[in-house]
Amino acid sequence: MDSAAHLILTILIFGWDPYAIMGCLLPDTLYWVAFIRTKGKGYRGSSIFSWGERLHSLFILPLLGLLLYLISYNSSFLIFTEAVFLHLITDLITHRTEGPRFFWPILDEYYPRGLVDWCKPAVIISYYLLLLTLAVFMRFFI
Ligand SMILES: [Zn+2]
Repeated sequence: MDSAAHLILTILIFGWDPYAIMGCLLPDTLYWVAFIRTKGKGYRGSSIFSWGERLHSLFILPLLGLLLYLISYNSSFLIFTEAVFLHLITDLITHRTEGPRFFWPILDEYYPRGLVDWCKPAVIISYYLLLLTLAVFMRFFI
């Protein structure tokens, strides 16, 4: 899923909480670095991109967020962790043919496979229509 879609969903659920926004954007940051450094050419084959796939591990950012919470008892770190989980779960669902390495360092390959493929225009359009419906529903009924 693209970062804009992650950001919109996170804002709909958590509001403009800075820890939630940080948690939703952080897993994709190395993808942006790889894109900028390669000027968009072949960035998916770069080692930075591979580390971006590993940054989506269920054992990295969620555990870091929980550790920071246990050390500080600052509830903002729980919101950060929840936003990271939301990002990882939506990526888990929307990456069918290729995607992050969710179980790194135990398994250094793309696993498990998602339900739909984010690369397909029908999936992207459906998702954004779902977000729009959710936003309208939340605006007028909640
Ligand atoms: Zn991601």
